[in-house]
Amino acid sequence: MNNETEIRKWLEDVMDPEIPVLSLVDLGVVGDIELKEGSVFVEIRPTFVGCPATTQMKYDIESLLHAKGFDDVHVDISYKSPWNSDMITDKGREALRKFGFAPPPKGNLIDDIDVLEHVECPQCGGTNTELQNPFGPTLCRSIHYCHDCKEAFQQFKPMN
Ligand SMILES: [Zn+2]
Repeated sequence: MNNETEIRKWLEDVMDPEIPVLSLVDLGVVGDIELKEGSVFVEIRPTFVGCPATTQMKYDIESLLHAKGFDDVHVDISYKSPWNSDMITDKGREALRKFGFAPPPKGNLIDDIDVLEHVECPQCGGTNTELQNPFGPTLCRSIHYCHDCKEAFQQFKPMN
């Protein structure tokens, strides 16, 4: 017998379309899961308004659950409890760091310019870094430069 816990476990294998090491569960995107008379209802919280990845996420979750034998799958975008970057799990933060991305700082720091300008470098852990471009390759990321490593890196932007 399948249950919601098992479904959530499966969804740990569905990766963020843009960050292949980070699962949607660890990103904090997967909300409530409900199993009703053989139908599955999954809520997802979009990370960034207009983030094109949401469509892909929906498709990936549907495909996985179809493959697991559920014919009737509903993935609904929910704004009930809006996503914020504090919902990224510790496992997710670790995955981001290994991928070379600085994880977003926790808490409501979006207006704290010092935190944004001195993001901890995922390579060396130093904070001798500088914000180069608040708009990276996607809306979700910013580009920073580490003066110690002499290399650029990306940060998954904090979002509250
Ligand atoms: Zn560095």
